[in-house]
Amino acid sequence: MPELPEVETVRKGLEKLLNNFYIERVEVLKERSIASSGGSKSFINNIENSYLGNWERRGKYLIGSLHSKEKISKGYLVVHLRMTGQFKLLKKQMPPCTHTRVRFFEDKGNELRFIDIRNFGQMWYVPSSKSVSETVSGIQRLGPEPFSDAFNSCYLKEYLKKRTRSIKSSLLDQETVAGVGNIYADETLFDAGINPKTESRNLKSSELKRLCNSLVKILNISIGEGGTTFSDFRDLEGINGNYGGQAWVYRRGGKNCKKCGEKILREKLCGRSTHWCPNCQK
Ligand SMILES: [Zn+2]
Repeated sequence: MPELPEVETVRKGLEKLLNNFYIERVEVLKERSIASSGGSKSFINNIENSYLGNWERRGKYLIGSLHSKEKISKGYLVVHLRMTGQFKLLKKQMPPCTHTRVRFFEDKGNELRFIDIRNFGQMWYVPSSKSVSETVSGIQRLGPEPFSDAFNSCYLKEYLKKRTRSIKSSLLDQETVAGVGNIYADETLFDAGINPKTESRNLKSSELKRLCNSLVKILNISIGEGGTTFSDFRDLEGINGNYGGQAWVYRRGGKNCKKCGEKILREKLCGRSTHWCPNCQK
């Protein structure tokens, strides 16, 4: 599943390739892809004949601004890629593949295509009279962005003080911190030397400090690599990221720890495969 670095990579691609994309026509091939009220009919009516650009990211959500020819705001297009959603920018006409869900056509003949094999990806139209978080409840519930000042060890100490569940589970919860998924939770806990099974409320301030620093460090490295090679993630130009080769523990169960040589453990924790070094993470 795309996590913060992958979504950030997609955001950069959207910003670069279609910062002022004029949507002349929209085609929705799968009703389920449209999550905003009014379904595809309202989505199409509101988005056609708009310029799309200024891409932002909040957690794993992509937020594009819509405006008219006269530069008047027409609201937002919000996208969550979920498991397998991806965008492709096509410069020539091509028939849609079986997994094509939504097509945005530009007047010059370019097409922005949303392809989603598992079909869990979602899109919302948000009118300019409403805020994005008012319309998309998942955004309203998001915790702070890892790169923001609001995300620090004091915040975590307070937020986790009564939580008995594992720190791995807390990191996966988007209400703790936005954008972290399985790969970067495991990698961050390794970097911070924290056992993923540790009860969240038992982490000391020094450990929480390390956790914050490690998360920002690991995310930054991965963004620099264009995301990770795991999963089917592709950026807009069909390029896979490079972080995978650098992973310390993720998908390395049974292999030797790159730091100490101990065997990396793998176990299901809160329903997700969790990888850690029993020696480096106590
Ligand atoms: Zn180790």
